[in-house]
Amino acid sequence: MEYMALRYTVGLDLGGTNIKGGVLDEGGGIVAKGMIKTEAESGPGHVIGRLGMLAERLMREAGLGKEDVDKIGVGTPGPLDPAAGLVLSAPNMPGWKMIRLKDELMGVTGMDVKVVNDGNAAAYGEYWTGSGRDERVQHMILLTLGTGIGGGVVIDGKIFSGAHGAGTELGHMIVKPGGRPCGCGQLGCIEQYASATAFAREAKRRIDAGEVTSLEGEVTTKDVFDAAADGDAMSRAVIDRGIDYLGKACVNLVRIFDPQVIVIGGGVIAAGEAVMGRLRRSFDDQTWTVREERVEFAAATLGNDAGFIGAAGMARG
Ligand SMILES: [Zn+2]
Repeated sequence: MEYMALRYTVGLDLGGTNIKGGVLDEGGGIVAKGMIKTEAESGPGHVIGRLGMLAERLMREAGLGKEDVDKIGVGTPGPLDPAAGLVLSAPNMPGWKMIRLKDELMGVTGMDVKVVNDGNAAAYGEYWTGSGRDERVQHMILLTLGTGIGGGVVIDGKIFSGAHGAGTELGHMIVKPGGRPCGCGQLGCIEQYASATAFAREAKRRIDAGEVTSLEGEVTTKDVFDAAADGDAMSRAVIDRGIDYLGKACVNLVRIFDPQVIVIGGGVIAAGEAVMGRLRRSFDDQTWTVREERVEFAAATLGNDAGFIGAAGMARG
C-alpha cells in the first residue's frame, strides 16, 4: 500500500453573532478550534473575509499548510443551493441574498469549499463523532431545541437533503393544525411549542393570564426549568405540554424514517430527566402498539462544536 500523509479538513459554522471553527483529522479528532465575531453588520463581503481569516488562523495553530488540508466545509443558516454553494438568504445577516459563498470563499482562501446547511452539519457532527458515533448507528435524527428547532436526518450514514436541497426543516413540521403562527408563515409548527424560547413564551403567557406560579415578570427558559425542578406546577405543565408536542413530532419522524437513535440537542438537555425521560414517556404514550419500538433517545454530546465538526465531515464526502 502506498504511503499516504494524514489529511485534514477545516470546518466552519457561520452564525449571526459568531463564527466557530476547527481543523479536524480523518477520524474527526479536533486538532485546533476557535471562534471569532461574525460582524454581520458589515455585510457579506466582510463576513466571507472573516471566514477565510479564521480558517487560516486555525491552520496556522495546527501547524498545517494548504497542502495538508483537503477542503473547507461551511455550515450556514437559511435556505441554500448546496450544489452551487449559493446562499439564498440568511436570517439576522444583512445583505445575505443570493450570495455565491462557495466561489467567494474559494477566491479568498485559494482552497476547495463545500457549503452545507447548518442543521445538517450539526446532525452529521453528532453522527460522526458525537451521540451517533457507534458504527452500528447508520440511521439517526438530530433535533436541536434552540431559538427555533433545527437538526437533520442521517440515512445509511449520509445526510438526507431532499430533491431540491431544502430538506430537512424539522422545526417546521406541523404538530397542531391551525395552531400558533410561525415565522415561516405556517400555523402550528413544532418550534412554536418545543423550542427553548417556546417554553419561556408559554410561561409568560400563563403568568399574564394570572395562573398561580412562583415565577413572575420576564422569564427565561432556564427559570421555567428551575421552577419546575422546585415543584412549581405551572412550570411543569408548560414543560409537559412542550415535550408532548415534541413526542408527537418524534412519533411522526419514526413512522417516516425508522431511525435507530433520535438525538436531542440544545441547552435545555442540561435539565436531564425533565427533558429526556419525559420525552421517552411521551413518545411511548403516543406511539402505536402494532410492533415494538426499538428507537433510542439520546442527549447530544458535542454542544456548540457539532456544527463545525459536521461541516468538516460533510466536506470530506
Ligand atoms: Zn414554521
